[in-house]
Amino acid sequence: MTDDVVAELGRYQSRAWPLLFRLAGLVDVEAHADGSWVVGESGRRYLDLGSFSVFLFGHRHPKVVDAVRRQLELLPVSSRALPTRGGAAAGRALASLFPFEVKVQFLNSGAEAVEAAIRLARAGTTGPARPLAAVADGYHGRTSAASALSGLDGPHVEHVVRLPREDRDQAVDLIERTGPAAVFVEAVQGEGGARPLSDDYLVAIRAACDTTGALLVCDEIQCGLGRCGTTWAYETSGIRPDVVLVGKALGGGVVPVTALVATGAAFAPLDRDPFLCTSTFAGNPLAAAAVTATVALLDEEAVADRCRATGRALEQVLARLHADFGAAVTGHDGRGLLRSLTFARPDLAGEFLHAVLARGVLVTPCLRAPRTVRVTPSAFLTADELATAEQALRAAAAVARSVIDNESVRS
Ligand code: PLP
Repeated sequence: MTDDVVAELGRYQSRAWPLLFRLAGLVDVEAHADGSWVVGESGRRYLDLGSFSVFLFGHRHPKVVDAVRRQLELLPVSSRALPTRGGAAAGRALASLFPFEVKVQFLNSGAEAVEAAIRLARAGTTGPARPLAAVADGYHGRTSAASALSGLDGPHVEHVVRLPREDRDQAVDLIERTGPAAVFVEAVQGEGGARPLSDDYLVAIRAACDTTGALLVCDEIQCGLGRCGTTWAYETSGIRPDVVLVGKALGGGVVPVTALVATGAAFAPLDRDPFLCTSTFAGNPLAAAAVTATVALLDEEAVADRCRATGRALEQVLARLHADFGAAVTGHDGRGLLRSLTFARPDLAGEFLHAVLARGVLVTPCLRAPRTVRVTPSAFLTADELATAEQALRAAAAVARSVIDNESVRS
């Protein structure tokens, strides 16, 4: 029942889609979703612990859907000749999540927010552009500059200084020697394998940015909004960033929307020129309605507390997998509900992904860590759902270990 869909995808979109879906063990076509569950056209239900960390509030949270539906009937996209009440409210709502004064620029994708931060960092400067710096194994998206920051397939126009993970002295030395315009960090690296950076490392980078005048940009697109157990993942370090990037769950998993949030000083170029990083659909009324409803949910539903509590239970599940299937599962990492399992080899991670999908559970590979699989459920995952997930994860880990067992029998 999936053949017509993948054939059409391959014919009219990338030829690689059919191959990729088949490699992933395609069994169905996604039809609809609710809470932690995705339902296929076959009627089969899949427990969603993946989806690239978008569904922090589950699928179609009723409060976000209601707010968006109301807006849809009124004014989904505006003329932009006049301001909208919803657009103003969304900025106020997002700013309220910070204990210091900030200003907000809404955008459409994470990579676009990254580009906006680069524009801010370089605004008003002339002459040769100062380089950018980013932590190794980070991921910031796939526009041209974001790919360069992520260390992905070049050639790149941007010169990016790569800061070694957790080597404080070398990272500080590199920032001081190269004088970047901005330093990009994810307090918990998502695509890099759900790996938290230490508080000491973040503090050292903050100090080096102060010394050199670089903007410190915390990319919280994946790790923010409570997913790691605090509203912002950088919070545990006590630092104050100049710029924070927000995305993925910001539209409640209902409308795609991202934002750049900056201190007054860092935002100054946008105060002078609001068109500095403008985009036709940025902050459209539908997205604004989703943001306001989503921010309200964070508090009403104590989302960060839920992520901490369920994150502890999930950590135990992953620790048991590591302990029981150690030959294949070599480690686990993460914070709150941004977690990962690492395998001895990339092919074992592939076997695991295949086997867990066949058992009706969705998890996500890591774009920057081929041996690692991410587990990023909704904050509303129930204890029963976690128990269901554990059974499937264990069965899939057993499949990965059997690959190793069979190899040692043969040799
Ligand atoms: N930054 C981080 C930390 C991300 O995880 C991602 C996407 O995975 C991005 C930026 C890019 O966001 P988008 O895919 O919406 O462009």
